[in-house]
Amino acid sequence: MKNVKILIVGAGPAGLYLAYLLKRHLPRSELRIVEQNPHDSTFGFGVVFSERALEFLRADDPRTYERITPAMEAWTDITVVHRGTPVVIDGIGFSAIGRLRFLQLLRDQLEAAGVMPEYGYALPERENIREFDLVVAADGANSTVRKGADFGTTVTPVTNKFAWFGTTRIFDTLTQTFVENAQGTFNAHHYRHSPTMSTFVFECDAGTWARAGFERMDEAATLAYCEKVFADALQGGRLISNKSIWRNFPKVRNRRWVSGKVVLIGDAQRTAHFSIGSGTRLAMEDAIALAKSLSEFKADLPAALAAFEAARRPVVEKLVAAADASADWYERFPEHMRLAPREFAWSYIQRSGRIDPEKLRRIAPKFVAGA
Ligand SMILES: Cc1cc2nc3c(=O)[nH]c(=O)nc-3n(C[C@H](O)[C@H](O)[C@H](O)COP(=O)(O)OP(=O)(O)OC[C@H]3O[C@@H](n4cnc5c(N)ncnc54)[C@H](O)[C@@H]3O)c2cc1C
Repeated sequence: MKNVKILIVGAGPAGLYLAYLLKRHLPRSELRIVEQNPHDSTFGFGVVFSERALEFLRADDPRTYERITPAMEAWTDITVVHRGTPVVIDGIGFSAIGRLRFLQLLRDQLEAAGVMPEYGYALPERENIREFDLVVAADGANSTVRKGADFGTTVTPVTNKFAWFGTTRIFDTLTQTFVENAQGTFNAHHYRHSPTMSTFVFECDAGTWARAGFERMDEAATLAYCEKVFADALQGGRLISNKSIWRNFPKVRNRRWVSGKVVLIGDAQRTAHFSIGSGTRLAMEDAIALAKSLSEFKADLPAALAAFEAARRPVVEKLVAAADASADWYERFPEHMRLAPREFAWSYIQRSGRIDPEKLRRIAPKFVAGA
């Protein structure tokens, strides 16, 4: 493809990785990538990758695989804590990395390939994009670019509330802790994402949130409340906030991924509930599929974009269905908490519909045997 002008909006995992792939596969294209946030600023703490982690990169892009994998923390068990009883589910591997570290690694790789993202530039809603042949909306769940055309977008917030914290307390495994107090029921998803830091996502249902009075609490009071609720899990560790405001996870769906010369990738195209740890991988896989289509179809952009959507949609829909099932389980976790700890752990591990008892017998023999 000769001198195709491409604008990528957003330097999250989707945008940074796509820019790198395009630079490698379409070296003659003119690439511009813009990011509203300053350099080295991001929300959240760590992200977790489910069992296969970055395996999808190993064959086609060993350089990126080798760059990122050594910076990841990995473990093979999940611990589910309910009524103070830890139940270990063996054999379900995960790995994790700090979101900022991950973005830095992707950015360094992109810059080494000769593309400098423009930080501190928020693409306005009515930006003139006439000069570009292709505009890639990699600008996340709240995408500005998406608002400029009709993609048949729906955004449905789930009712649970969450806040994304960090802590210096280091956890041995990915742990799901569930606790109850006079106001209601709470859940924390917690795991280490570096040798010195862990992620701590605090979640509760809307009723508990209202009764606890979070609406009237500032950030410091919220943090103190969470520390108290999860004092046993934190064992004296303190929580750390980073734009850790209360949010409702938005389920983003688009009937169309392409409108004219604009294409949606990553969270701008769809979100997958964080409880299955797949949003980042999906975003990177979108980038791979789009770069592949663009290099195959060369100058025929409409055909390339149509092929991208046709190839990718079935894969994405399958994963999104699993993510939705998992989100629904979390929406009803106070009900599930009536189960005894082991039954509760069984319910938890089967929540997305991807693991049935047969599979579990194979991969988690100790858990199934009741060890
Ligand atoms: C609580 C929580 C926990 C999560 N945990 C995990 C996990 O464990 N594992 C996992 O895989 N995924 C997780 N995710 C999901 C993951 O963060 C996303 O799926 C992933 O970041 C999507 O990448 P992206 O590049 O599409 O979007 P983003 O990472 O959102 O990046 C979009 C970028 O676009 C920029 N931008 C937005 N508007 C503009 C504009 N107008 N102009 C310029 N730039 C703009 C934003 O600043 C941002 O940097 C979690 C999400 C949440 C909310």
